Amino acid sequence: MSADLADLRAEVAAAARRLAAEGLLIGTAGNVSARDPETGLIAITATGVVLGDCTPDQVSVVDRSGALVTGDLEPTSELDLHLAVITTYGAGAVVHTHAPNATAIACVREDLPVLHYQQLALGGTVRVAPYATFGTAELAAHVVAALQDRSGALMANHGAVTHGSTLTKAVENALLLEWCCRLFRHAAALGTPRELDEQQQLAVIEAAIARDYGTPRPARAEEGS
Ligand SMILES: [Zn+2]
Repeated sequence: MSADLADLRAEVAAAARRLAAEGLLIGTAGNVSARDPETGLIAITATGVVLGDCTPDQVSVVDRSGALVTGDLEPTSELDLHLAVITTYGAGAVVHTHAPNATAIACVREDLPVLHYQQLALGGTVRVAPYATFGTAELAAHVVAALQDRSGALMANHGAVTHGSTLTKAVENALLLEWCCRLFRHAAALGTPRELDEQQQLAVIEAAIARDYGTPRPARAEEGS
């Protein structure tokens, strides 16, 4: 095994531990994958692993067909879901969680509307993919469809999926989606949430492009406002 793939397995394990520490991965529920840009091989958490304690040897390596290349453990039962997202959208990494706020929203709503402009980093209104049994090709197809032009989707009565060009980005998107779901829950508990309309969303995107929002810049005191 190349040193790079060992690094990738370590990075996937570290991402799993971080998402568990943030409360998004609970026990053995959820999974993380990342694609090696050079070989196209995919490092993915194994099934039955306690993600908060995930070690590099609990991350298996598979090829694009899902065949095991490296590792002693069977990959997650949602392997097909990860492969489908990576293949369809060219994702560099995929995160699937049963995060509490995302899952709650996915048990009630058909989508997650945009209440806060930060959600636009996920592409806008987040769709809820129809329910299907875990680990099935049907579920993978539903999620792939829900991710059209989005970097996150909810899964009805199940959880959430995010992807990104890198593992860091996919993890950030998972944290952001959970934050947006928590915001919706809090807002809805207080009253009827006000949504950002199309015009307001467009203005945010234009402002973000103009200001290169989210990128650190030297000599500017004001950030993230
Ligand atoms: Zn799941």
